[in-house]
Amino acid sequence: MFDFDCIIIGAGISGMYQLMRLRELGLKVRVFEAGTGVGGTWYWNRYPGARFDSESYSYGYSFSQELLDEWTWSEHFAGQPETLRYLNHVADRFDLRRDIQFNSRVSAAHYSDATRSWDVTLEDGSRYSTRFLITAIGPLSAPTMPKIAGVESFTGRSFHTARWPKDPVSFEGKRVAVIGTGATGVQTIQEVAKTVGHLTVFQRTPNWCAPLHNSKITDEEQRQIKASYPEIFARCQETFACFLHTPDPRGTFEVPEAEREAFWEKLYGERGFGIWQGNFRDILLDRKANKALSDFVAKKIRQRVTDQAVAEKLIPRNHGFGTRRVPLETRYYEVYNQPNVRLVDIKETPIERITAGGIKTNDAEYAFDIIIYATGFDAITGSFDRIDIRGAGGLRLKDKWKAGPQTYLGVLVEDFPNMMMLIGPHTALGNIPRSIEYNVDWVTRLIAHAQRNGVTRLEATAAGVKSWTDHVKSLGEGLLSNEVDSWMTGINRNVDGKSERIVARYSGSAPAYRERCDRVAADGFKELSLK
Ligand code: NAP
Repeated sequence: MFDFDCIIIGAGISGMYQLMRLRELGLKVRVFEAGTGVGGTWYWNRYPGARFDSESYSYGYSFSQELLDEWTWSEHFAGQPETLRYLNHVADRFDLRRDIQFNSRVSAAHYSDATRSWDVTLEDGSRYSTRFLITAIGPLSAPTMPKIAGVESFTGRSFHTARWPKDPVSFEGKRVAVIGTGATGVQTIQEVAKTVGHLTVFQRTPNWCAPLHNSKITDEEQRQIKASYPEIFARCQETFACFLHTPDPRGTFEVPEAEREAFWEKLYGERGFGIWQGNFRDILLDRKANKALSDFVAKKIRQRVTDQAVAEKLIPRNHGFGTRRVPLETRYYEVYNQPNVRLVDIKETPIERITAGGIKTNDAEYAFDIIIYATGFDAITGSFDRIDIRGAGGLRLKDKWKAGPQTYLGVLVEDFPNMMMLIGPHTALGNIPRSIEYNVDWVTRLIAHAQRNGVTRLEATAAGVKSWTDHVKSLGEGLLSNEVDSWMTGINRNVDGKSERIVARYSGSAPAYRERCDRVAADGFKELSLK
């Protein structure tokens, strides 16, 4: 009757796994992918230095022991090329490509109540009908260029980090500019600085960064990792945000000062997100605790940067440590000790325009061969906004979410029947593949339930949406991160209508999220409207 039982938009980590699970139900599934290959985030973000910030062995898929046995990560935090190889390996191993149509960007998806189905249109105008629609479009996949006059006029080479070319770009002998100092900018800057002729970093807001401490995985470590996958994933299931790290149960000021400093010193010296995710339980809630930790990290920055005037510019003033996503770095601060690197604080000297030859601030004109835009994404709702999604009665999702997303468990939206979101707004982000696997398994259970019971129209109820959205908002109360502008609070001033903070993320614990969703499934999805 329809072209497909289910259309999935996106062949990244979530779309690939969802395809596998729906095949098991015997459904006819098609994945539409805008890129020429699988991998989503890891397909698009080929910028120099792109790599994991969570431990490789906690990030890969956990659903197949064979896959875990046969894949060998080479570093504690794998680089993008290795991750993309891994995802291609998964696509080959599970024969996924035959149901994925590449070079196929979805431009519209309209629901019809008459047929209880979705009409999906691709950019080339082709159209397909499907009973179910699953968005696997990622929370950080709609890149945004800065709103700066003259961006089009630059005659050298320029790239957004999330649209990096497949061919390598050489920086040798080149004058390079990087705009943006978020997690992407930091990774890019520290890599480009290794070979560049001269690098200028245009920083609007410094972020609190912490050392990644990456290294190759030794043979002995490899044996241990491979033997302990069940424990690794069990640990991820227990922790607050599915990382290997989880908050220390002690309050900051319950611990004597010397012991506290020693604890922070230890965390600063350890791998990965420990200093952010494994710190005292109150550092992201209590202003004084957060200030004490921020002072500790500021001291580290001052120790690592030779020129103290530059160090002061690199220390954030408008937010505390961890209240924005912490970029993990490898000798990032030392980059500013290189004689061929310059930091321009664009709060002090704003960029006026991009010119044919470079960048003009209000006090100087800089000439460049290459400009790199590490200016981020229209996060969480942006990838939805870029598709003309219309639900029952022609209601546009963009209009429905004008004042911020309203969802049921972050998966369903009232008035958008038969549409399910993977890693949509109001879901637990954290270590994303762990959240994805849970999300996909839950959606698969829901579709299997519909199949078994002859349900052809499933939808969140108004009461269900209100209760979940209120819950998500209440969880955000008191979090210092919700008082700060960042993609996590929905701010992107390069996009019209994204300058008011919203609660876009579920900030409760991942175990609590799963418990709530499991209860709904165990109860036969009675909280939904099923017809
Ligand atoms: P981001 O955190 O939003 O950073 C964007 C940067 O561009 C900020 O420094 C921002 O300054 C600057 N910017 C934006 N518009 C500008 C303008 N008009 N003029 C000057 N500067 C401008 O984006 P991101 O660095 O791409 O990171 C987004 C998220 O992706 C991360 O937080 C993380 O969750 C994820 N990520 C993950 C990894 C990993 O796991 N390995 C790596 C990279 C990214 P303001 O701060 O002043 O707005």
